[in-house]
This record gives sequence, structure tokens and C-alpha cells, in this order.
Amino acid sequence: MNILVLNCGSSSVKFQVIQTDLDMINQNSDRALASGVVERIGSESLITFRVHLSSGVKNFRTAEPLKDHHAAIKRIIQWVCHPSSGIEGISSTADIHAVGHRVVHGGEKLTTSILLDEHTIRQIEDCIELAPLHNPQNLKGIYATREVFGINIPNVAVFDTAFHHTLPDFAYLYAIPYQLYRRHKVRRYGFHGISHRYISFRYRTIVGMERNNVNIISIHLGNGCSSCAIKGGVSVDTSMGMTPLEGLIMGTRAGDVDLSAMHHIAHKEGYTTDEIETILNKQSGLLGISGLTNDMRELIDEAKENDDRRAKLAVEMFCYRIRKYIGSYLAALGGAQAIIFTGGIGENSPYIREKICKELQWFGLELSPELNDTLKGGKEGRFTSESSKLAAYVIPTNEELIIARDTYRTIHSVI
Ligand code: ADP
Repeated sequence: MNILVLNCGSSSVKFQVIQTDLDMINQNSDRALASGVVERIGSESLITFRVHLSSGVKNFRTAEPLKDHHAAIKRIIQWVCHPSSGIEGISSTADIHAVGHRVVHGGEKLTTSILLDEHTIRQIEDCIELAPLHNPQNLKGIYATREVFGINIPNVAVFDTAFHHTLPDFAYLYAIPYQLYRRHKVRRYGFHGISHRYISFRYRTIVGMERNNVNIISIHLGNGCSSCAIKGGVSVDTSMGMTPLEGLIMGTRAGDVDLSAMHHIAHKEGYTTDEIETILNKQSGLLGISGLTNDMRELIDEAKENDDRRAKLAVEMFCYRIRKYIGSYLAALGGAQAIIFTGGIGENSPYIREKICKELQWFGLELSPELNDTLKGGKEGRFTSESSKLAAYVIPTNEELIIARDTYRTIHSVI
């Protein structure tokens, strides 16, 4: 079965075409046939399409005016389904058999992947008030796909919050008046769930372990950053909250912060609550501290080459916050087998991983700097010594694979 996987952001659409079925899932032999991204939707859009061939990846780049998500998705489908694109086994829209959509927020009710119809789309629309910045973008992708393909091709939604539905109430509740949770569903939902779920699956595959025995800490460090405590193969705590703002320091998000300090700032500077929201989400984190950039690669260069004080401080704060979360999750889990790094920073920066892990000796983590240095650019592996009590790994994430597999399983009711 050929599945188109779509991930719609505010001004971008990422996609992959993945061939999968039950045998391929069981043998772990699913194949990515094509991938790409449309960026800067609404102006001169940048388009990158890639065909994955056994001989390597062929890239195709162009810029075209695409006015909205509908136009972007139409363009993606046009390219994917055209015989001249050279994607193996695909020469018309009939060769795409289903579409899987990443949806950020499923609230308390949508805790597994679902087949989309009028009723379930309405349920996702009901979650907009919990995720006003994200769900509308995901829904745009769903509406546009149904328009372009017609409603006869199955569409499945896979939720970023779903993996965290196993959090116990004492972990997901905020210590605020309980009726505010009852009335407004204000609680911690957690995000990056598709990524953390992939990490848990991949770890147990690498070490040859049953799902129920997996006790790990998964740390996703990209533009958004979150950590997840996984016990018995399920999420029992996570650092993001009701929205993706809470927890670790991120590219432009503050992570944990004293809300009364924000009240003080609003009072002193005359900011509205919307302005405070913008500061915390868009102007804080690595960007806010450094005053330079939200890009970790650039910050590390500034810190190393120019000895920039605030770049160094931003990197230091970033790593320190992660270490604190690891410590608290080791306590929450009663110990763990491994700490696993993923996401653009987690997968590519031995420097950041070493800064975090070298202080974890007391917990039994024996870093191997040599192994650590080899893990970048999509490589998977362990970077602790053989005798290390607590292991550390890099596992490149693959959210698209989980979405494609869930799409297949949901359609065939084999979840
Ligand atoms: P997103 O969350 O948008 O998917 P990514 O997972 O691609 O983002 O992560 C982007 C981050 O990864 C950026 O801060 C980027 O600088 C960082 N990054 C990528 N490569 C490296 C590297 N070699 N060293 C340090 N940081 C890196």
C-alpha cells in the first residue's frame, strides 16, 4: 500500500510517500519512495522534492507562487502522481491508496489514530480551542486532501498528543483549582508523541526487548524540544504541557517559567496577555537569551569561534535544563535503562550530548567520547561504554513511518 504522509505547519507542508503493509511492518521493511517540503506558502514558495531510488536520492528544487495550503497540497500530489517524477510504482492518483495526517492536538478524547469522516473531522475541529496555533493548520491539510483526492480515499489522523494519554492524573494535572481542569480541560497533554513513540519502538527493536520492559528517557531536541519518561513502553511523564510551551528551553520558546514573573513584566511594560504569549513562544528560548539566533549550530559556532558570552550562556542554560529533567525523570521512573537523543540537535551535535551526559556519572552513565563523535548525520547507535549502567543512544526519529503504519493499521483495523 502506498501512503502519502502529510505534516502541515503554519507556512509549510512536509510529505513522504511510504510503501507499507502488514508483512513489511512485521519485517521492518517499509520503504520511503519519495519525500519533500513546500516552504513559505503564501508567497514565492520554495519546493524541494526527492525521489528515493535504490541507487540514491534524486533532488528537485524549484520556486513557485503557491497561495495557500490547498495549492501546496495540489502541487505535491501533482508531482507525486506524475509518471515523469520517476517514483517507483506510482504513475497516477490511483497509485496513492491512503493519506496519513499528523495532527497536533487530540484533546482527551482522541487517544488513538482515527479514520477521518465528517464526524471525526468535527472532533478535531472541537480541539482547536486547545491548540489554536496548530490544529487549524493540520485541518487545512485534511480539507485540501479531501478536495483534491475526493472523499473516497481513506484519510487517517495520527495525533502528537496520543502517546501521552497514559500519563497518570498526578503527572498531567496542574496544581490549580480542580474545577478549572473540569471546566476548561486545562491539564498537561504533551506533544512530540509520535516521535517519542518511534524512539520507544526503535529502542526495543535494537536491544531485542518486549514493549512492556522498556524503561527509558526520550529527549527530542529540534526547534521544539521535549523529554518523555517511558515506563513499561508507555509515556508516564513529559515536559510539554497544555501547549508546547512548557518544559525544556527551545529555539524561541522559554520552557518552564514563573507565571507571576510574566505578570510583573506585563505590568511594567504594559503588555497584553497576547503580547506575553508572543514573547514566550516566539522571542524567548535560545533566541531570547543569545539575542542572536534560535539556530543551535550558529550558537555553537558563536560560542566556540567568537567566545560570545550570551551564546555560551544560551547553550549552557539549554543543557542544564535538560540535565535537570533527566534527573527528575530518573527519580520518577525509579531508574532507567537508557537516555535517547533525537531531533536535529540530538541527532547531530556530539558537543551538546557530551555537555549533558558528562555530568551524569553519578547515575551510572559512562560516556564514550569516541563513540559520541561518530554519531551524526542520521547515524544510529550507543555512545556509552560497555560497562555503563545507564546507556545513552542516538536514534534518528522517523515520525512519518509511525504515521504511515498507523494509517495502514487503522484502515485495516489491526491496531
Ligand atoms: P524541527 O523541530 O523544526 O523539525 P529539527 O529537528 O530539524 O527542527 O532541528 C533543528 C535544530 O537542529 C536547529 O537548531 C539546528 O541548528 C539544529 N542542528 C542541526 N544540525 C546541527 C548540528 N550539526 N549541530 C548542532 N545543532 C544542529
